[in-house]
Amino acid sequence: MLAHTADQPISGPVQKMELRAPAKINLCLHVIGRRPDGYHDLFSLMCGVALYDHLVLGIGAAENTIQCDHPVVPGDENNLALKAALLFNQTLDRENGILSQPVSIRLTKHIPPAGGLGGGSSDAAAVLKGLNDHYGAPFDRDRLLALAVRLGADVPFFIDQRPALAEGIGERLTPYHGLPAFGVVLVCPDFGISTAQVFGSLNFGLTKSKKKLRYKPFKNGNFSATDHLHNDLEAGVIRRFPVIEKIKKMLLDQGAIGSLMSGSGSTVFGLFEDKEAAGRAAKRLDRPDAWQVFATRLLV
Ligand code: ATP
Repeated sequence: MLAHTADQPISGPVQKMELRAPAKINLCLHVIGRRPDGYHDLFSLMCGVALYDHLVLGIGAAENTIQCDHPVVPGDENNLALKAALLFNQTLDRENGILSQPVSIRLTKHIPPAGGLGGGSSDAAAVLKGLNDHYGAPFDRDRLLALAVRLGADVPFFIDQRPALAEGIGERLTPYHGLPAFGVVLVCPDFGISTAQVFGSLNFGLTKSKKKLRYKPFKNGNFSATDHLHNDLEAGVIRRFPVIEKIKKMLLDQGAIGSLMSGSGSTVFGLFEDKEAAGRAAKRLDRPDAWQVFATRLLV
């Protein structure tokens, strides 16, 4: 563990830290209303899935840099992982008087970007937590969550990575217990979808009143695919990309307990009894080579 006070210069070798960052799916996503700041109030059951990006941090590098192997993911300060490192270091310098060290990041993407799987947000949370560990936990959980939400609405979820009901813009998290360890097939078609565009095209009509939630209330352990799988963003996305509906049907035809688009798409997931059942179904899917398919499980 290294912690340098502001008047101690840093020297020494670059310290390597390997991290993995899981994807998430939204088992339900209700959009409650648009806020004056342009964000939307949500109610969502979020859960991690065992599909991971890999990051290698070099702490004490010559400068802050990121190198990413994916062509559509930014390899500069627009990358959320580097944004997270810069925010962490600035906060450490300013608020804790600890002289932070520049970080080089090598990011290997396995989570398809712009797929509604939260890959960028998870990368950012992994960097915040990794750097916090490196400096001996100068920030408690609440301060980490406060930094996380400045990077994006989904980032706080990935600080704990436990199944949770998310409210507000996604930052108010209540742990949700008793979710079965479902197997999951993720089908990622050959296009990503911009989250901002999907939310931008939502129509709440002329009234400012909040939408009434119509679903069976969640109690720990009562998750039911029939009662709870629902995504308010799905119908609008299906109008633009009818293939989403087709994928849902393909998954149900292969025995999925339920199937839904995750977040703002484009990934569609199917829930299965366990990872083995998911693996068998994934093999049977008759789909174009350009789609990515993963057989995995919920992180419960
Ligand atoms: P959102 O969190 O907006 O719902 P998503 O889960 O659909 O997004 P992400 O994988 O987070 O998808 O990527 C959204 C966009 O963010 C990408 O198209 C990319 O331009 C940008 N981005 C920035 N940093 C990253 C990162 N580390 N990994 C993936 N995308 C990133």
